[in-house]
Amino acid sequence: MSLLPRCMYCERHDGGLVAVAEVASGSGPGWSSYACKNCRIEQRLVPLVAQASNSWGGLHHWPEVVPHELVARLADLGDAPQLRPIADRLFPAAAVAASRAVDDRRRGIAAVTAQAAVVSLWAAVAPDGLTPVPDGGP
Ligand SMILES: [Zn+2]
Repeated sequence: MSLLPRCMYCERHDGGLVAVAEVASGSGPGWSSYACKNCRIEQRLVPLVAQASNSWGGLHHWPEVVPHELVARLADLGDAPQLRPIADRLFPAAAVAASRAVDDRRRGIAAVTAQAAVVSLWAAVAPDGLTPVPDGGP
């Protein structure tokens, strides 16, 4: 068995491996699970360092409000701790927006909050502050 990290989905050793989950161990530090860029896009995985602060280290998937194209751009960033404050806003809001247990008004506010977080994510993948045009290019 190799000590090299490999993708937990396709078992590649390369291709932009990023830690996406941490497996707690009974004593001492746990170990990390890795996923390559392609699998992170396919599975919509959030890098471990970008997960919301209340994460327990399990797998996190970008909520549906994040379009596939943005998921791909985010995967390009690799480890992206700068996304954590955005995840802290996005994940609770997306959960409330999708919930049937809250009233329409709260759900509406949560949906707007989630959309605002998605705009912040677009800004994070466009360092010049411009929202990229899908399928566009220089
Ligand atoms: Zn993979």
